[in-house]
Amino acid sequence: MADADRDFITWLRERGMPAAPEVSVDVVYGGAFSVKDYYMESGNPRQMRGASQLLMEAAEAFAAYTYFACGAEVFLIAPQGAGADLARGLEEVFREKTITGQAAAVWREDIQVKDLLHAERFDALWRGLNDDFYARRMMIFPAVDKPQDNRRCPGCNFRDIHTNGLCVSCHKRQEKGRGARAGYRQECLDYGKDTLGIALSLDETYEKENSIELLADGSGDFALLYADVNNLGAAGKKLGGNVQRRRAFTRAVQATVKAALYTAALKAVRAGGKMAFEIIAAGGDDICALLPGDIALLAGTLLLEEFDRCWKGHANEYGMLTISAGIAVGQAKTPILYMRETAEQLLKIAKRKAWDRGCSCLDILSLNSDGQWATKIKDKLRADLRFIEENQIANCTMRPYTAGQARKALQWLNHDIAPSTLHSIAEVLLRCGIAEGNLWFRYLLSRQNDPALANMAKDIAPGCGMFYKGDGGELISPWLDLAQLRGQRGGDVC
Ligand SMILES: [Zn+2]
Repeated sequence: MADADRDFITWLRERGMPAAPEVSVDVVYGGAFSVKDYYMESGNPRQMRGASQLLMEAAEAFAAYTYFACGAEVFLIAPQGAGADLARGLEEVFREKTITGQAAAVWREDIQVKDLLHAERFDALWRGLNDDFYARRMMIFPAVDKPQDNRRCPGCNFRDIHTNGLCVSCHKRQEKGRGARAGYRQECLDYGKDTLGIALSLDETYEKENSIELLADGSGDFALLYADVNNLGAAGKKLGGNVQRRRAFTRAVQATVKAALYTAALKAVRAGGKMAFEIIAAGGDDICALLPGDIALLAGTLLLEEFDRCWKGHANEYGMLTISAGIAVGQAKTPILYMRETAEQLLKIAKRKAWDRGCSCLDILSLNSDGQWATKIKDKLRADLRFIEENQIANCTMRPYTAGQARKALQWLNHDIAPSTLHSIAEVLLRCGIAEGNLWFRYLLSRQNDPALANMAKDIAPGCGMFYKGDGGELISPWLDLAQLRGQRGGDVC
C-alpha cells in the first residue's frame, strides 16, 4: 500500500476492518435533507436549537463508521454485509429522533478497499451514490403525527396537539432545546476565545428565556440569515479523486464555513448593542443564524469577506468556491413563515448574481419599513428596479450586493443623513429618469447645505448626482437601499 494511504488503512484497522487492498467493505451515504424546513417549523430559538441538536445526535449515532460528514450528511464505511442494515438504521434513527425531519440513506456492497483509494473508481462510486441518494429522497415523505384532539400546535401552527400542548415533533425539540448544550453557538464562542481572542459574555436574560423578543435589537428587529456555498454539488462533482481527497475537501469546506460564520457572528454581535445570537446550522449546504436586526448587514458582509479570505488557501487545491447569503429582517412578531420565505427568495436572488459575477453575494431586506410584510414581500423583492434612458441603464438599487458593495453600503449608512431626506431622494429616484433625477439631486444639494449629505454625495459619485458607475458601466444608485436599510447602522463598521 502506498504511503499516502496509511491514514486510511489505520482508520479501517481501528474499526476492526482488515485493510488489505482486495478486502471488500460496504459504504453508506445519507442523512437529513430539507433541514431548513425542519428547523424553521417554529419561530422559537430554543426549539430551533433543539432541532439542530437532534439532527446532530442522529448523525453522531453513526460516528463509529463515519469517514466524513458535512452538516447532517454522512459517508460511512462498514464491514462487508453491514451496509443495508446501516442505511435502513440511519433513516430510522433520524426519523425516531426528529419525528418530522426527513432523512434518506443509500448503500453499495462489496467495494474493494483498493477501489476506494483509486481516483477514477471512487469518483464513479461517489457519483452513483449521489444519484441514488437523490432518487431515494424523492421516495421519502414528511411524517405526520396522529392527532389526539384537533387543536393546532402553537409551536409549528401546522400539526395537531399531542403532548404537553405541543405536537410530538415540537415537543421533542422543546425538550431537547431546554437542556441542550448550545451546540454550534457554543462552538462559535469557543472559536472566538481560542482563535480570535474575542470573549463575549452573552445577555443573561436571553440565555434563560431564548425568545425572539429578547434577541431583537433596540427597535425590536431580528434577522434570519440563510447562506450556503455556491454550487457545492457541482464543485464536488468536478473534484474527482479518491476517498481521502473527498474527505479532505469536505473538511476544508466545513472548516471554512465555520471560520467565516463564527467570525462574522462574533464580530457583528460585538459591534452591536445586543449580546445575543443563535447559530442553528453551520454546514456547507446549510448555514442558518438568528441575529439582532441592526447588525445583520454587517454580519452578512463579514461572512462573505471571511469566506473568500479563508477559502483562498484551498482554492489552488480544490478550485474556486464562493458563498451567498439571504437576510430577512423583521419584527419579533413577524411570522417566521414570512421570514423564511423572504430569506429563501433573497438567497436565490443573491445566488443568481453570484453566478453571473463569479463572486460571493448577499441580499437583504427589511420587512418592516412599512409594516406591510404580508402583501409587499413580492414587490420589495424585485431586484430589477431599473430604467433605461438614452441607451443607458440605471439600477435604482445596489442589491443584491457583492462583498465590496455591502461594505460600501455599511460605510454610507454611517453618514448621518435625515431619514426624511433619504426617503425623498429614494422617491424621486423611483419616479424620475436619470437626467431629471440628477438635476433635482444637484438642486437639493445646493438648497439643503447639509455637510453630511454633501460628503455622502462626494463619496458615491463625484459630479455624477444620484448614481455611480458599476463594474459593467451601468449606473447604480444606492439611495433606495440606504433609505430601506437605515436600521442597519448598528455597531461601528469593523
Ligand atoms: Zn408543532
